[in-house]
Amino acid sequence: MKIHRRRCLQQAACAALSAAAAWAAPAAASAQSKEAGGPEPLPIVDTHQHLWDLTRLRLSWLKGRNALNRNFVMKDYLEATAGLNVVKAVYMEVDVDAEDQLAEADYILEICRRGDTPTCAAVIGGRPGQPGFRDYITRFKGNPYIKGVRQVLFAWKEGNPFFLDKTFVDSIRLLGELGMSFDLCVPPAGLADAVKLVDLCPGTRFILDHCGNADVKQFYPAQKHATPEQASEARRFVERWRRDIAEMAQRTRVICKISGIVASVPEQWAPDDLAPIINHCLDSFGPDRVVFGGDWPVCTRGATFRQWVEALRHVVRHRSLADQRKLFSENAIRFYGLS
Ligand SMILES: [Zn+2]
Repeated sequence: MKIHRRRCLQQAACAALSAAAAWAAPAAASAQSKEAGGPEPLPIVDTHQHLWDLTRLRLSWLKGRNALNRNFVMKDYLEATAGLNVVKAVYMEVDVDAEDQLAEADYILEICRRGDTPTCAAVIGGRPGQPGFRDYITRFKGNPYIKGVRQVLFAWKEGNPFFLDKTFVDSIRLLGELGMSFDLCVPPAGLADAVKLVDLCPGTRFILDHCGNADVKQFYPAQKHATPEQASEARRFVERWRRDIAEMAQRTRVICKISGIVASVPEQWAPDDLAPIINHCLDSFGPDRVVFGGDWPVCTRGATFRQWVEALRHVVRHRSLADQRKLFSENAIRFYGLS
């Protein structure tokens, strides 16, 4: 999870709301909300749902992140997604402290087994670079709810792609043998190395999280940058990101999760600010290898769950209804084998 600290979350929400009012343009019938009296919106499968109950799990990274440093449990998720027709959700690991990893798996398996909420599958945490990973993950072999593993790869440094070490690569290959996927959550500069990891693990399927963690501000037109130097730096960032996304997309074992980018928007933003990122991902991966992710509650750093969904609907409104269905639900159901 990449978090940018904000001065005032409430301010941001207000800004997003007023921006939302400005772009409430003619939407496809399918995109109208239930409350507005329109038909039910397209079903959503949320492939990136976080939940945390701090009475059961320790998340050290939450210290100092005021707005997120409290419980976010199913009741809160159901409130955040009310009226949006979220029919299924895939839990995404929340970087619990290492000693709580099995407790996290137990926590989410309980929820999946109960079957009384949208959550029907999970991507759990793990440390593929650690020698104990094989024992840890093989206990979940054949578990119908555990679909994959993620370790956020933000510790990547130029020249030190720790996730290309032999132990790590062997672990990711093992995931393929177990029928599990691996989520690639890398900083944008690490995308080229992530492509190498994909190539080293030909039997494993991957999900590229958060559009490769593209930074929305870098995509602003030149005149919106403070100095010409910043504008040209941003242009170089965008060119490199576009090239690396296109390269990743050539690997058909990788799908792209359209998610996460609203967590880093500046206080004033509009849905069209997200369009260059979303459109490049959709065009590179094609209509069959893109899935929607809410990234709630981390998305609330920039937008509510509803605002994120509405922004994405706005950006894709001219695409065919069939492709919108694939993006919002059908691809996820197929990829994860959800029933
Ligand atoms: Zn996330």
